Amino acid sequence: MASAARWSIADSAALYGLERWGEPYFSLNARGHVIVQPRGDRGGALDLVELVQGLQGRNLSLPLLIRFDDILEDRLERLHAAFERAIAQYGYAGRYQGVFPVKCNQQRHVVEQLAESGRRWHFGLEAGSKAELLIALSLVDDPEALLICNGYKDQRYIETAILARRLGRQPVVVIEQADEVERIIRASRELGAAPFIGIRAKLSSRSTGRWGSSVGEKAKFGLAIPEVLATVEALRAAGLLADLRLLHFHVGSQINDIAVLKDALQEAGQIYVELTKLGAPMGFLDVGGGLGIDYDGSRTATAASTNYSLQNYANDVVATVRECCEPHGVTVPTLVSESGRAIASHFSVLVFDVLGCGGVLGSDGTAGAIPPAADGEPLVVRNLRDTLAGITSSDNRPDTSRLQEAWNDAIKFKDDALAAFRLGYLSLPQRALAEQLTWACAEAIVARLPAGAGGSSGGPIPDDLRALAAALAGTYYANLSVFRSAPDTWAIEQLFPLMPIHRLDEQPTRLGHFADLTCDSDGKLARFIGDGQAKPLLELHALREGEPYWIGMFLGGAYQEVMGNLHNLFGSTNAVHIRLAPGGGYQVDHVVRGNTNAQVLEAMEHQPELLLERLRMASEAAIQRGDLKISDARRLMDHLETSLRQTTYLQE
Ligand SMILES: *Cc1c(COP(=O)(O)O)cnc(C)c1O
Repeated sequence: MASAARWSIADSAALYGLERWGEPYFSLNARGHVIVQPRGDRGGALDLVELVQGLQGRNLSLPLLIRFDDILEDRLERLHAAFERAIAQYGYAGRYQGVFPVKCNQQRHVVEQLAESGRRWHFGLEAGSKAELLIALSLVDDPEALLICNGYKDQRYIETAILARRLGRQPVVVIEQADEVERIIRASRELGAAPFIGIRAKLSSRSTGRWGSSVGEKAKFGLAIPEVLATVEALRAAGLLADLRLLHFHVGSQINDIAVLKDALQEAGQIYVELTKLGAPMGFLDVGGGLGIDYDGSRTATAASTNYSLQNYANDVVATVRECCEPHGVTVPTLVSESGRAIASHFSVLVFDVLGCGGVLGSDGTAGAIPPAADGEPLVVRNLRDTLAGITSSDNRPDTSRLQEAWNDAIKFKDDALAAFRLGYLSLPQRALAEQLTWACAEAIVARLPAGAGGSSGGPIPDDLRALAAALAGTYYANLSVFRSAPDTWAIEQLFPLMPIHRLDEQPTRLGHFADLTCDSDGKLARFIGDGQAKPLLELHALREGEPYWIGMFLGGAYQEVMGNLHNLFGSTNAVHIRLAPGGGYQVDHVVRGNTNAQVLEAMEHQPELLLERLRMASEAAIQRGDLKISDARRLMDHLETSLRQTTYLQE
């Protein structure tokens, strides 16, 4: 491990795993800032710190969600390129034609961007509800693009899909529940027109991972094999079998293990073949979502990772489907995937500021200057001073057993100090001094550990001393709500890469975790990407007086925004869409202002004007009573009115 003097940006890149999860979009520059290459390795880079400063100059305060539309486009390109390569490699006689599941990120500018960028591949959308269907029908007008209609469907949903065909759209109504076929038949009779029909099969293949229950006999969606057969016969009887065009399955989100997908593909491939034998024209096989993201860069079949690449995935889909169809002489289908997470995760970066740092050390990361010894100090305090001197005086690095001994002494004296305080022999300032000395001992010991701040490498370190670094950890107060901006970290222990976006040429000397603005003890970020397994503390820098400390949360572009809630009435953050400008630098394409306090109050049916009016009346009464000066009343009302117009987060 490098010493503080030799710390380089390469050390930071390794420490935060940037090379493992950040490629090809995020890296570091010589100034120790995170840079973003929105077009991957095709050139163009933005200094994230300068970008945030530029946005602040446009009156966009932190926390700020920065969406890089170029990344979104690059992800689409990579997905299509992977399938094109696989199709060429395996001599697949069909095409790939994907859709984006709108539920992954329904934000207008995001879906519009995807619809626009995806046009050249006839890229479509997947909807799981009537509102999402409305988005899909209105934003994609390419007659060749697929609009996959999933989710529970009532008569109106189905009729809407059928009628939309007359607009030149291509909605596919996927039968997910056994009773939906009757509704489709009824709607078709009524309207004298049929939809494109799909069937979602409930596969019995094994599954793993958090969403493993999306498949198997107990899955919420999909038809069991007897139901598939009954549906085919019902469609045949109603004269609609010629409209059965698509077989769909969905293994669950974030498939960690490629073997799970292979099993599912084989089973679905055989069902597809059987459906053609039953007389359905078919033509499309929709392999659902689930294409995973390697959040921790470990390349393993663990929750925050995947044991395959995008190319492996495409290869397996293409090769397996071909292997199923060929022996039966069945024409291979157009391959559809509903990859959401894989398309939308990378493109948004959440940047938030740290408001302060708590813990046993000061926010500067030190125990502070120890006041000189006074005459007549109690014995415990003198003992602690001696212990500290013993640790710091030796020039050579003391061996760990001596450090351990010194720490045992310090802890004993601290306990003595507490006992003396309880019995009235120690004043409050003396107790404070004893605690300060104890943490100064700890600080001095940690600085002398072979492993430095993290205590994660080097020689054998006694467990007590390892725990010491954790005891000195700081709580970094983050200007954000986890429940709004990173709900999956709380709900399902999702890991997102988190790291400072500047000072990366400096060795981080502290360990810490983040506490958010809510009054909820779950409102914290305390799981970080580690080597092999998640770690509870992240290496961070001591705060510097008057200087901001900015943290980036990466790979959160999928699901976080819509799953986020209004806990403590913290609303959406400011969001911006950034594009590389043709002449270098960047342009701000869209600004989406975060919720104001007035908006979140209205969401709970309050009337901001009425709330203000009540307080105005209370102020007036206080003025009449002589309890409030007119100038103070005005200041109070100004603050309230300004707050209503501002976002819900702390302002600088
Ligand atoms: C959620 C969902 C998806 C998207 O899954 P990702 O893992 O984000 O790719 C696709 N299809 C269906 C049916 C879904 O429910």
